Amino acid sequence: MLIIQTTNNACNLYKMNHSGNTNQGQSNNQKPDPSGKRFKWWWIYLIMLVLLLLPSSLNIFSTVKEITWQQFEKDILSRKAVEKIVVVNNEKAEVYIKKELSNEAMFKEVFKPSFGKGINSGPHYSFNIGSVESFERKMDEAEKNFSISEKIAVSYVKKTNWFWSILGWVLPFILLYGLWTFLLRRGGGMGMGTGGSSIFNFGKSTATLIEKQKSNVTFDDVAGLEEAELEVREIVDFLKSPESFTKLGAKIPKGVILVGPPGTGKTLLAKAVAGEAQVPFFSISGSEFVEMFVGVGASRVRDLFKRAKEKAPCIIFIDEIDAIGRSRGKGAFLSGANDERESTLNQLLTEMDGFGTNSGVIVLAATNRADMLDAALLRPGRFDRHIYLELPNLKEREEIFKVHLRPLILDDTIDTHFLAAQTPGFSGADIANICNESALIAARKKKEKIGKQDFMDAIDRAIGGLEKKSKIISPEEKNIIAYHEAGHAVISWLLKHVDPLVKVSIIPRGKSLGAAWYLPEEKQLRSESAFTEHLCATLGGRAAEEIVFGEVSSGALDDLEKVTKEAYMMVVYYGFNKKIGNISFYDSTGQRDMSIQKPYSEETGKLIDEEVRKLVSDAYQRAKAILQQNKESLQKVAELLLKKEVIFKEDLESVLGKRPDSIASIPA
Ligand code: ATP
Repeated sequence: MLIIQTTNNACNLYKMNHSGNTNQGQSNNQKPDPSGKRFKWWWIYLIMLVLLLLPSSLNIFSTVKEITWQQFEKDILSRKAVEKIVVVNNEKAEVYIKKELSNEAMFKEVFKPSFGKGINSGPHYSFNIGSVESFERKMDEAEKNFSISEKIAVSYVKKTNWFWSILGWVLPFILLYGLWTFLLRRGGGMGMGTGGSSIFNFGKSTATLIEKQKSNVTFDDVAGLEEAELEVREIVDFLKSPESFTKLGAKIPKGVILVGPPGTGKTLLAKAVAGEAQVPFFSISGSEFVEMFVGVGASRVRDLFKRAKEKAPCIIFIDEIDAIGRSRGKGAFLSGANDERESTLNQLLTEMDGFGTNSGVIVLAATNRADMLDAALLRPGRFDRHIYLELPNLKEREEIFKVHLRPLILDDTIDTHFLAAQTPGFSGADIANICNESALIAARKKKEKIGKQDFMDAIDRAIGGLEKKSKIISPEEKNIIAYHEAGHAVISWLLKHVDPLVKVSIIPRGKSLGAAWYLPEEKQLRSESAFTEHLCATLGGRAAEEIVFGEVSSGALDDLEKVTKEAYMMVVYYGFNKKIGNISFYDSTGQRDMSIQKPYSEETGKLIDEEVRKLVSDAYQRAKAILQQNKESLQKVAELLLKKEVIFKEDLESVLGKRPDSIASIPA
């Protein structure tokens, strides 16, 4: 990792800023695409409504003419035109006119049929009768008045309006159903995708499904992971043509677990497998299984596998599987009730046993902590294959740069080898971020093409944070910062095992007030002297302050934190201390993180503290001795820094001369 030593603000801790680019991952998290056209439910509702309203709407076309008693008496009874009267529900009189009068001008209209041919057989008129008694009395009087000899037939019927009575029953159900669908849709639409935590989908899996046509990530997009790629290619071949394997009786792994630090391309590799094999891809994070309620996780696992089997052949990708796959029964005391996580894990184990090796569902999982996983999960037959991804080396970084530089418009100054050399310890995600950041920087400068300097600025920004030239720093403070940084620079220049210095700056960046950049060699092993010299260089800032100003400041907070951690690691983990001996209290399974008990006795604890203190104090004395011997150089470097604000390796060379191979004269 490109290391920087920073001078801190009194109360702010500087934090390395390796912001990983998760954009791509996110952008590929597409919403599930519903296959085929969605069924238009509203058609059904419309038809139902029309059917319900049709009978009543028929009344619109009815030719029964509403009249009053007076009109009935004057225009109809007086002409002796009535054939019969039907009194409905003791309320309404329906009047039927004699057929032979249908051609009379007055009645022509009411005899017109509502539908089809023929004539309207009645009723032709209707009026409200008030009460039966008054109606009968009025009829008698009228018959007398108009000398109607043959009494008009009056019948009484009861009619129920079935439409309204049915509607009275059905309407509450329709309303309830409407409310139910509305709530369901609202739950589904609140970003919960296909499952989600809407109250109705609680036990449904929240996995995102990327259909095969939509997964356009291929192995071309993955760089520098050759060995891992080779391993997973077999899965692609199986998904494409399972017969070539099964005919020989071969069994394909059910699960593949990808292990590696964040941003090393685990998700990307899983997506590439799906893209190459052209199969659907279910993606879910381990933490999405677990909810507050016991049993939900297990139900989601069941649902996920059910959905996956329906779509087979397909891939299930479980990111951060350690969220559910952690060893059972351990750490339960500290992490509270683990019932839910355990039952989720048990369900996962059962499901992975449940489907056959050749069923076409392959589970890929990713984690940063394989050591934490339950042994049952990792046994052959479940996650049979373990693929370890590491931070990319120089060559791999160069390849990753090439992938991410593809869409960018670059000028001729860009050299991928140089960029890869400037970014040791960067993950694939960091590199993707640098490329994007440099494009943004170039765009901000209104440039046509992205240049080398834009990349350098992006790298600096990723490591140290944004430059804050506007931060108000008094001349005295600036002086202290300059000497502090010069102290780091001089000691690291003179000590053989300290990583080479690239540049020193006293421009505030992020939360730091000044910084020194180092470019470490990519080594797998570090010697004890490399550790002690590194301690010494890290304490160089504070030592310089003491020598020059006779007093130290709070600016060394970050340095002290690093030094303390490193010194403890030397004593407790690496067995570098003679008194403690070749003993390591490191626990690769991570289970001790959960425990409150120390793995050593109280006396050993005291001894560790003493030895760490001694180690740091020796390193500090050594730093002071080096600076005393080179006080003049220290002053020159500090002055140069105050003048230029940023100085590079070449500037240091001009002051301190070429970096010596060894410095035997310096007391160790
Ligand atoms: P985490 O453990 O944090 O989930 P991860 O290992 O799954 O991280 P990815 O999500 O795969 O990391 O990587 C993030 C982004 O980094 C990718 O989308 C891609 O842009 C870039 N990246 C990572 N590794 C590579 C690589 N080997 N080649 C090309 N790009 C890469």
